[in-house]
Amino acid sequence: MDELYDVIIIGAGPAGLTAAIYASRANLKTLIFEAEVNGGKLSKTHEIENYPGIASISGLELAMQLSEHGQKFGAKLMSGTVDKIVEKDGYKTVVLTDGQEYQAKAIIVATGTRERMLDLPNAKEYTGRGISYCAVCDGFFYRNKKVAVIGGGNSALEESLYLASLASEVTIIIRRDVFRAEASVIDKVRANDKIRIVTRHVPDELVIENERIIGLKIRNVDTGEIQIVECSGIFPYIGADPCTSFLDPSVLDPNGYIIVDPNMSTSSKGIYAAGDCIVKDLRQVVTACNDGAIAANSVSRYLKK
Ligand code: NAP
Repeated sequence: MDELYDVIIIGAGPAGLTAAIYASRANLKTLIFEAEVNGGKLSKTHEIENYPGIASISGLELAMQLSEHGQKFGAKLMSGTVDKIVEKDGYKTVVLTDGQEYQAKAIIVATGTRERMLDLPNAKEYTGRGISYCAVCDGFFYRNKKVAVIGGGNSALEESLYLASLASEVTIIIRRDVFRAEASVIDKVRANDKIRIVTRHVPDELVIENERIIGLKIRNVDTGEIQIVECSGIFPYIGADPCTSFLDPSVLDPNGYIIVDPNMSTSSKGIYAAGDCIVKDLRQVVTACNDGAIAANSVSRYLKK
Protein backbone atom coordinates (compact mmCIF):
# COMPACT_ATOMS: atom_id res chain seq x y z
CA MET A 1 0.00 0.00 0.00
CA ASP A 2 1.32 3.42 -0.95
CA GLU A 3 0.67 6.72 0.83
CA LEU A 4 -2.75 8.36 1.01
CA TYR A 5 -3.64 10.74 -1.84
CA ASP A 6 -6.28 13.45 -1.81
CA VAL A 7 -7.36 12.45 -5.30
CA ILE A 8 -6.54 9.69 -7.75
CA ILE A 9 -7.27 10.53 -11.38
CA ILE A 10 -7.77 7.55 -13.67
CA GLY A 11 -6.76 8.41 -17.24
CA ALA A 12 -4.20 10.89 -18.56
CA GLY A 13 -6.08 12.30 -21.55
CA PRO A 14 -7.11 15.96 -21.81
CA ALA A 15 -9.78 15.57 -19.07
CA GLY A 16 -7.52 13.77 -16.59
CA LEU A 17 -4.52 16.02 -17.19
CA THR A 18 -6.62 19.19 -16.83
CA ALA A 19 -8.07 17.78 -13.60
CA ALA A 20 -4.47 17.19 -12.46
CA ILE A 21 -3.52 20.83 -13.17
CA TYR A 22 -6.49 22.14 -11.17
CA ALA A 23 -6.16 19.60 -8.34
CA SER A 24 -2.45 20.11 -7.79
CA ARG A 25 -2.78 23.90 -8.01
CA ALA A 26 -5.42 23.57 -5.25
CA ASN A 27 -2.71 21.81 -3.19
CA LEU A 28 -4.36 18.40 -3.45
CA LYS A 29 -1.98 15.48 -3.32
CA THR A 30 -2.69 14.02 -6.76
CA LEU A 31 -1.89 10.73 -8.44
CA ILE A 32 -2.79 9.98 -12.09
CA PHE A 33 -2.92 6.50 -13.61
CA GLU A 34 -2.63 5.95 -17.35
CA ALA A 35 -3.13 2.50 -18.84
CA GLU A 36 -1.83 3.28 -22.33
CA VAL A 37 -0.41 6.53 -23.76
CA ASN A 38 -0.34 9.95 -22.05
CA GLY A 39 -2.70 12.26 -23.88
CA GLY A 40 -5.12 9.44 -24.69
CA LYS A 41 -6.75 9.40 -28.11
CA LEU A 42 -5.41 12.90 -28.72
CA SER A 43 -1.92 11.50 -29.21
CA LYS A 44 -3.19 9.48 -32.20
CA THR A 45 -4.88 12.47 -33.86
CA HIS A 46 -3.17 14.09 -36.80
CA GLU A 47 -4.24 17.69 -36.31
CA ILE A 48 -6.35 19.73 -33.89
CA GLU A 49 -7.87 22.89 -35.31
CA ASN A 50 -10.54 23.67 -32.73
CA TYR A 51 -8.64 24.12 -29.47
CA PRO A 52 -9.15 27.80 -28.65
CA GLY A 53 -6.05 29.93 -28.90
CA ILE A 54 -4.14 27.38 -30.96
CA ALA A 55 -5.26 27.51 -34.59
CA SER A 56 -3.48 24.30 -35.55
CA ILE A 57 -1.39 21.78 -33.64
CA SER A 58 -0.62 18.09 -34.04
CA GLY A 59 -2.50 15.88 -31.58
CA LEU A 60 0.76 14.39 -30.34
CA GLU A 61 2.28 17.82 -29.67
CA LEU A 62 -0.78 18.98 -27.71
CA ALA A 63 -0.83 15.66 -25.81
CA MET A 64 2.84 16.11 -24.85
CA GLN A 65 2.27 19.69 -23.72
CA LEU A 66 -0.77 18.67 -21.67
CA SER A 67 1.15 15.78 -20.11
CA GLU A 68 3.98 18.10 -19.05
CA HIS A 69 1.56 20.75 -17.81
CA GLY A 70 -0.47 18.14 -15.90
CA GLN A 71 2.60 17.21 -13.86
CA LYS A 72 4.04 20.73 -13.49
CA PHE A 73 2.39 21.51 -10.15
CA GLY A 74 3.28 18.25 -8.41
CA ALA A 75 0.79 15.64 -9.65
CA LYS A 76 2.43 12.23 -9.89
CA LEU A 77 1.82 10.26 -13.10
CA MET A 78 2.09 6.47 -13.05
CA SER A 79 1.48 3.71 -15.55
CA GLY A 80 -1.22 1.24 -14.49
CA THR A 81 -4.53 -0.32 -15.45
CA VAL A 82 -7.31 -0.07 -12.90
CA ASP A 83 -9.19 -3.27 -12.15
CA LYS A 84 -11.65 -1.92 -9.58
CA ILE A 85 -12.36 0.73 -6.97
CA VAL A 86 -13.30 -0.51 -3.50
CA GLU A 87 -13.94 1.12 -0.11
CA LYS A 88 -11.32 0.22 2.48
CA ASP A 89 -10.55 1.90 5.84
CA GLY A 90 -12.97 4.69 4.88
CA TYR A 91 -11.00 5.55 1.72
CA LYS A 92 -11.39 4.87 -1.99
CA THR A 93 -8.96 2.09 -2.84
CA VAL A 94 -7.88 1.75 -6.45
CA VAL A 95 -6.84 -1.82 -7.22
CA LEU A 96 -4.66 -2.24 -10.30
CA THR A 97 -4.70 -5.33 -12.53
CA ASP A 98 -1.31 -6.33 -11.08
CA GLY A 99 -2.88 -6.34 -7.58
CA GLN A 100 -1.25 -3.14 -6.29
CA GLU A 101 -3.49 -0.88 -4.26
CA TYR A 102 -3.53 2.93 -3.92
CA GLN A 103 -5.76 4.95 -1.60
CA ALA A 104 -7.35 8.36 -1.95
CA LYS A 105 -10.09 10.47 -0.44
CA ALA A 106 -11.68 11.02 -3.86
CA ILE A 107 -11.46 9.69 -7.41
CA ILE A 108 -11.84 11.30 -10.82
CA VAL A 109 -12.52 8.83 -13.64
CA ALA A 110 -11.31 10.20 -16.99
CA THR A 111 -10.77 7.00 -18.93
CA GLY A 112 -12.22 8.16 -22.25
CA THR A 113 -13.32 5.75 -24.94
CA ARG A 114 -11.77 2.92 -26.92
CA GLU A 115 -12.26 2.59 -30.69
CA ARG A 116 -14.60 -0.12 -31.94
CA MET A 117 -12.90 -2.94 -33.78
CA LEU A 118 -13.88 -4.04 -37.26
CA ASP A 119 -16.10 -7.09 -36.93
CA LEU A 120 -15.11 -9.15 -40.00
CA PRO A 121 -13.56 -12.62 -40.37
CA ASN A 122 -9.73 -12.37 -40.15
CA ALA A 123 -9.89 -8.72 -39.04
CA LYS A 124 -8.10 -9.44 -35.77
CA GLU A 125 -5.38 -11.42 -37.50
CA TYR A 126 -4.76 -8.63 -40.02
CA THR A 127 -4.72 -5.80 -37.47
CA GLY A 128 -1.24 -4.31 -37.82
CA ARG A 129 -0.87 -6.11 -41.17
CA GLY A 130 -3.18 -4.02 -43.32
CA ILE A 131 -5.82 -2.97 -40.82
CA SER A 132 -4.93 0.01 -38.64
CA TYR A 133 -6.81 2.08 -36.09
CA CYS A 134 -4.21 4.86 -36.15
CA ALA A 135 -3.59 6.77 -39.37
CA VAL A 136 -0.96 8.96 -37.71
CA CYS A 137 1.00 5.88 -36.58
CA ASP A 138 0.67 3.75 -39.73
CA GLY A 139 -0.25 6.08 -42.61
CA PHE A 140 3.38 6.28 -43.68
CA PHE A 141 3.32 2.58 -44.69
CA TYR A 142 0.68 3.40 -47.31
CA ARG A 143 2.54 6.11 -49.25
CA ASN A 144 1.36 6.07 -52.87
CA LYS A 145 -0.94 3.13 -52.14
CA LYS A 146 -4.73 2.90 -52.02
CA VAL A 147 -6.47 2.83 -48.65
CA ALA A 148 -10.06 2.51 -47.42
CA VAL A 149 -11.51 4.36 -44.44
CA ILE A 150 -14.71 3.08 -42.85
CA GLY A 151 -17.00 5.53 -41.06
CA GLY A 152 -18.28 9.06 -41.47
CA GLY A 153 -17.59 10.71 -38.10
CA ASN A 154 -14.99 13.35 -37.24
CA SER A 155 -12.30 10.71 -36.70
CA ALA A 156 -12.85 9.04 -40.09
CA LEU A 157 -12.92 12.27 -42.04
CA GLU A 158 -10.06 14.04 -40.27
CA GLU A 159 -7.81 11.00 -40.61
CA SER A 160 -8.87 10.58 -44.27
CA LEU A 161 -7.53 14.06 -44.93
CA TYR A 162 -4.24 13.07 -43.35
CA LEU A 163 -4.12 9.78 -45.29
CA ALA A 164 -4.82 11.66 -48.54
CA SER A 165 -1.52 13.50 -48.02
CA LEU A 166 0.30 10.15 -48.24
CA ALA A 167 -1.81 7.60 -50.11
CA SER A 168 -2.57 7.62 -53.83
CA GLU A 169 -6.31 7.25 -53.16
CA VAL A 170 -8.56 7.19 -50.11
CA THR A 171 -12.01 5.61 -50.34
CA ILE A 172 -14.36 6.54 -47.50
CA ILE A 173 -17.17 4.03 -46.99
CA ILE A 174 -20.24 5.14 -45.05
CA ARG A 175 -23.38 3.17 -44.37
CA ARG A 176 -25.84 6.07 -44.70
CA ASP A 177 -26.05 9.08 -47.06
CA VAL A 178 -24.87 11.52 -44.43
CA PHE A 179 -21.75 12.07 -42.40
CA ARG A 180 -21.63 12.67 -38.67
CA ALA A 181 -18.57 14.93 -38.86
CA GLU A 182 -18.47 18.73 -38.58
CA ALA A 183 -19.42 20.69 -41.71
CA SER A 184 -15.96 22.25 -42.14
CA VAL A 185 -14.29 18.81 -42.23
CA ILE A 186 -16.90 17.46 -44.67
CA ASP A 187 -16.20 20.42 -46.98
CA LYS A 188 -12.46 19.70 -46.92
CA VAL A 189 -13.04 16.02 -47.67
CA ARG A 190 -15.37 16.79 -50.58
CA ALA A 191 -12.83 19.25 -52.00
CA ASN A 192 -9.96 16.74 -51.87
CA ASP A 193 -9.59 15.07 -55.26
CA LYS A 194 -7.71 12.12 -53.78
CA ILE A 195 -10.74 11.17 -51.68
CA ARG A 196 -13.60 9.10 -53.07
CA ILE A 197 -16.80 8.64 -51.08
CA VAL A 198 -18.98 5.53 -51.28
CA THR A 199 -22.31 5.88 -49.48
CA ARG A 200 -24.83 3.25 -48.32
CA HIS A 201 -22.25 0.46 -48.14
CA VAL A 202 -20.85 -1.58 -45.25
CA PRO A 203 -17.70 -3.72 -45.09
CA ASP A 204 -18.38 -7.36 -45.90
CA GLU A 205 -15.12 -9.27 -46.30
CA LEU A 206 -11.36 -8.72 -46.51
CA VAL A 207 -9.84 -9.59 -49.87
CA ILE A 208 -6.57 -11.36 -49.15
CA GLU A 209 -3.90 -12.61 -51.53
CA ASN A 210 -0.58 -14.17 -50.44
CA GLU A 211 -1.42 -13.21 -46.84
CA ARG A 212 -1.77 -9.53 -47.76
CA ILE A 213 -4.85 -7.35 -47.91
CA ILE A 214 -5.46 -6.31 -51.50
CA GLY A 215 -9.03 -5.10 -51.17
CA LEU A 216 -12.24 -4.85 -49.21
CA LYS A 217 -15.56 -6.33 -50.31
CA ILE A 218 -18.36 -3.89 -49.47
CA ARG A 219 -22.09 -4.55 -49.53
CA ASN A 220 -24.80 -2.16 -50.68
CA VAL A 221 -27.21 -1.82 -47.73
CA ASP A 222 -30.21 -1.49 -50.07
CA THR A 223 -29.56 -4.08 -52.78
CA GLY A 224 -27.08 -6.42 -51.08
CA GLU A 225 -24.85 -6.08 -54.15
CA ILE A 226 -21.14 -6.61 -53.49
CA GLN A 227 -18.30 -4.56 -54.95
CA ILE A 228 -14.58 -4.60 -54.27
CA VAL A 229 -12.62 -1.55 -53.17
CA GLU A 230 -9.01 -2.06 -54.19
CA CYS A 231 -6.80 -1.12 -51.21
CA SER A 232 -3.80 -2.35 -49.26
CA GLY A 233 -4.72 -0.57 -46.04
CA ILE A 234 -8.01 -0.39 -44.15
CA PHE A 235 -8.62 2.24 -41.44
CA PRO A 236 -11.86 1.62 -39.50
CA TYR A 237 -13.16 4.66 -37.59
CA ILE A 238 -16.56 3.28 -36.64
CA GLY A 239 -17.01 4.96 -33.28
CA ALA A 240 -15.91 4.23 -29.77
CA ASP A 241 -17.15 2.78 -26.49
CA PRO A 242 -16.48 4.09 -22.96
CA CYS A 243 -13.70 2.47 -20.90
CA THR A 244 -15.81 2.05 -17.78
CA SER A 245 -16.11 -1.72 -17.24
CA PHE A 246 -14.21 -1.47 -13.91
CA LEU A 247 -16.96 0.72 -12.41
CA ASP A 248 -20.10 -0.26 -10.54
CA PRO A 249 -22.92 -0.44 -13.14
CA SER A 250 -25.08 1.77 -10.90
CA VAL A 251 -23.11 4.86 -12.04
CA LEU A 252 -23.45 4.04 -15.76
CA ASP A 253 -26.11 4.61 -18.41
CA PRO A 254 -27.23 1.65 -20.60
CA ASN A 255 -24.38 2.38 -23.07
CA GLY A 256 -21.72 2.31 -20.36
CA TYR A 257 -21.19 6.09 -20.13
CA ILE A 258 -20.86 7.58 -16.63
CA ILE A 259 -23.81 9.62 -15.41
CA VAL A 260 -22.67 12.85 -13.71
CA ASP A 261 -24.35 15.96 -12.31
CA PRO A 262 -23.21 19.47 -13.36
CA ASN A 263 -20.38 19.23 -10.78
CA MET A 264 -19.10 16.06 -12.49
CA SER A 265 -20.13 14.05 -9.44
CA THR A 266 -21.38 10.49 -9.94
CA SER A 267 -24.05 8.92 -7.73
CA SER A 268 -21.24 7.28 -5.73
CA LYS A 269 -20.00 9.73 -3.08
CA GLY A 270 -16.43 10.89 -3.66
CA ILE A 271 -16.29 9.54 -7.22
CA TYR A 272 -16.27 12.12 -10.01
CA ALA A 273 -15.88 11.69 -13.77
CA ALA A 274 -14.82 13.83 -16.73
CA GLY A 275 -14.22 13.73 -20.47
CA ASP A 276 -15.38 11.40 -23.24
CA CYS A 277 -16.43 8.65 -20.78
CA ILE A 278 -19.33 10.67 -19.33
CA VAL A 279 -22.84 11.08 -20.74
CA LYS A 280 -22.67 14.23 -22.90
CA ASP A 281 -23.38 15.58 -26.38
CA LEU A 282 -20.11 17.13 -27.51
CA ARG A 283 -16.90 15.08 -27.23
CA GLN A 284 -14.02 17.44 -27.95
CA VAL A 285 -10.65 18.22 -26.37
CA VAL A 286 -11.98 21.53 -25.12
CA THR A 287 -15.06 19.98 -23.47
CA ALA A 288 -12.89 17.27 -21.88
CA CYS A 289 -10.67 19.99 -20.38
CA ASN A 290 -13.79 21.80 -19.15
CA ASP A 291 -15.05 18.65 -17.41
CA GLY A 292 -11.63 17.99 -15.86
CA ALA A 293 -11.42 21.49 -14.39
CA ILE A 294 -14.94 21.23 -12.93
CA ALA A 295 -14.29 17.75 -11.51
CA ALA A 296 -11.09 18.86 -9.76
CA ASN A 297 -12.79 21.95 -8.36
CA SER A 298 -15.67 19.79 -7.08
CA VAL A 299 -13.21 17.38 -5.42
CA SER A 300 -11.48 20.32 -3.76
CA ARG A 301 -14.80 21.57 -2.33
CA TYR A 302 -15.83 18.04 -1.31
CA LEU A 303 -12.58 17.54 0.63
CA LYS A 304 -12.96 20.88 2.45
CA LYS A 305 -16.40 19.84 3.77
P1 NAP B 1 -18.73 8.64 -34.43
O1 NAP B 1 -18.94 10.11 -34.46
O2 NAP B 1 -19.61 7.82 -33.56
O3 NAP B 1 -18.85 8.12 -35.96
C1 NAP B 1 -18.80 6.74 -36.22
C2 NAP B 1 -19.02 6.52 -37.71
O4 NAP B 1 -18.89 5.13 -37.99
C3 NAP B 1 -20.40 6.93 -38.18
O5 NAP B 1 -20.33 7.40 -39.50
C4 NAP B 1 -21.16 5.57 -38.12
O6 NAP B 1 -22.24 5.51 -39.03
C5 NAP B 1 -20.09 4.63 -38.56
N1 NAP B 1 -20.28 3.27 -38.07
C6 NAP B 1 -20.54 2.86 -36.80
N2 NAP B 1 -20.60 1.52 -36.73
C7 NAP B 1 -20.40 1.06 -37.99
C8 NAP B 1 -20.35 -0.22 -38.56
N3 NAP B 1 -20.52 -1.32 -37.81
N4 NAP B 1 -20.12 -0.33 -39.88
C9 NAP B 1 -19.95 0.78 -40.65
N5 NAP B 1 -19.95 2.03 -40.16
C10 NAP B 1 -20.19 2.17 -38.84
O7 NAP B 1 -17.23 8.24 -34.00
P2 NAP B 1 -15.86 9.07 -34.06
O8 NAP B 1 -15.66 9.72 -35.36
O9 NAP B 1 -14.83 8.12 -33.55
O10 NAP B 1 -16.05 10.20 -32.97
C11 NAP B 1 -16.31 9.88 -31.59
C12 NAP B 1 -16.56 11.17 -30.83
O11 NAP B 1 -15.34 11.94 -30.77
C13 NAP B 1 -17.59 12.08 -31.50
O12 NAP B 1 -18.32 12.73 -30.50
C14 NAP B 1 -16.73 13.07 -32.28
O13 NAP B 1 -17.36 14.30 -32.52
C15 NAP B 1 -15.53 13.21 -31.36
N6 NAP B 1 -14.32 13.60 -32.14
C16 NAP B 1 -14.08 14.92 -32.31
C17 NAP B 1 -12.99 15.34 -33.06
C18 NAP B 1 -12.73 16.81 -33.27
O14 NAP B 1 -13.56 17.62 -32.91
N7 NAP B 1 -11.61 17.24 -33.80
C19 NAP B 1 -12.15 14.39 -33.66
C20 NAP B 1 -12.45 13.03 -33.48
C21 NAP B 1 -13.55 12.64 -32.73
P3 NAP B 1 -23.67 6.14 -38.67
O15 NAP B 1 -23.51 7.63 -38.73
O16 NAP B 1 -24.53 5.58 -39.72
O17 NAP B 1 -24.02 5.64 -37.28
